[in-house]
Amino acid sequence: MLINNCPVCDSLHVTSVFTRDNIPVLQNILMKSYEEACQIARGDLSITQCSDCGFVFNRTFDGDKVVYNSQYENTQSYSTFFEQYLDDLVTDLVTKHGIRNMNVVEVGCGKGLFLKKIVDHGDNVGYGFDPSYIGPEVLQGGKLRFEKRLYDEDCTHIQADAVICRHVIEHISDPVSLLKTIRRALEHSPHAKVFFETPCVDWILDNKVMFDFFYEHNSYFNRQSITRAFHLAGFDIVKVKHIFNGQYLWVEAKVNTSEIQIQQHAEPFINNQAGSKWFAQHERKWRETVVSQLEHYAINGKVAIWGAGAKGVTFLNLIDPGRTYIDCVIDVNPNKIGNFLPGTGHEIIGIEKAAQRGLSTVIVMNPNYFEENTLLIGSNRIDVKLINIEEWSV
Ligand SMILES: [Zn+2]
Repeated sequence: MLINNCPVCDSLHVTSVFTRDNIPVLQNILMKSYEEACQIARGDLSITQCSDCGFVFNRTFDGDKVVYNSQYENTQSYSTFFEQYLDDLVTDLVTKHGIRNMNVVEVGCGKGLFLKKIVDHGDNVGYGFDPSYIGPEVLQGGKLRFEKRLYDEDCTHIQADAVICRHVIEHISDPVSLLKTIRRALEHSPHAKVFFETPCVDWILDNKVMFDFFYEHNSYFNRQSITRAFHLAGFDIVKVKHIFNGQYLWVEAKVNTSEIQIQQHAEPFINNQAGSKWFAQHERKWRETVVSQLEHYAINGKVAIWGAGAKGVTFLNLIDPGRTYIDCVIDVNPNKIGNFLPGTGHEIIGIEKAAQRGLSTVIVMNPNYFEENTLLIGSNRIDVKLINIEEWSV
């Protein structure tokens, strides 16, 4: 089914950015064998931008194809860089935003690691909601509670002082409905502070990151479209800023309790369609550049990529679906090591195996981890050339 109207502002003024057919519907799913990895369900990407609010979405998204179960694995905190980033975020919430001795709800809490940090650091009580949660329902004598379900209007009994939702809204095809559901759950918590984190589509377009569009993410926001979505759902925006070196948007909002919805616009939507157009025109050129670089480095020995997350999975499905150029994928997440990359079947290995594998070149998928990966290569005494994928931008 083709989505014709902008899922945020309902405008019909939407234009195609680019399309990609037959791509894996999940990127962060554990695949135990090569065969299983290659047989993953597939769908089409039809990236589309609204000219009125700037929202970007996959107009051919089919939610029935994407099932988040206990095989979904997206823990990023095995990276010391990411762990530090999370710790800084928690410190900021506790010290600058006063999230201390409060009831904190996390929507889409994953395995609950972030919520646990908030509870420990600020002496808070945490309520985590996630259909893919695995683990005990009650921890730390009741200070941490988890429910394997969505947070919705049946949760109004929880007097929430803060609601945190990180990296969830980009997976939702009707983001305004998600926000309205949270708004209804806060009916008896009108003073709750609301915090959201999601990738910034302007960063993807401006930096021409070809592999940051994938099936799991069907909603891509910029400052203007996220502001519009929150207003439509009955929230007031306190602040929207860029974090994680510009890759993510951080939204602070509060419940709009007035009878009349005030239409606030932080700033007018600046049409970024120059950036969008660039994508369609230059994807082929980028692929050619990457392949010629891979052919060049293959002369010296085997080539790997670093990062079995969504960026790495998308990159290899675009560039090396037949496993011609890339030998394997390195990752620091022990839950991913020994599994196979969704769609292509590249083996995922730990850094300690890199030497015996005979690798000579490793391409780092996210520039934010380049320094950390350089240190890991050094401390493991592995003689490989590390390349920042940004160097191959065209
Ligand atoms: Zn729109």
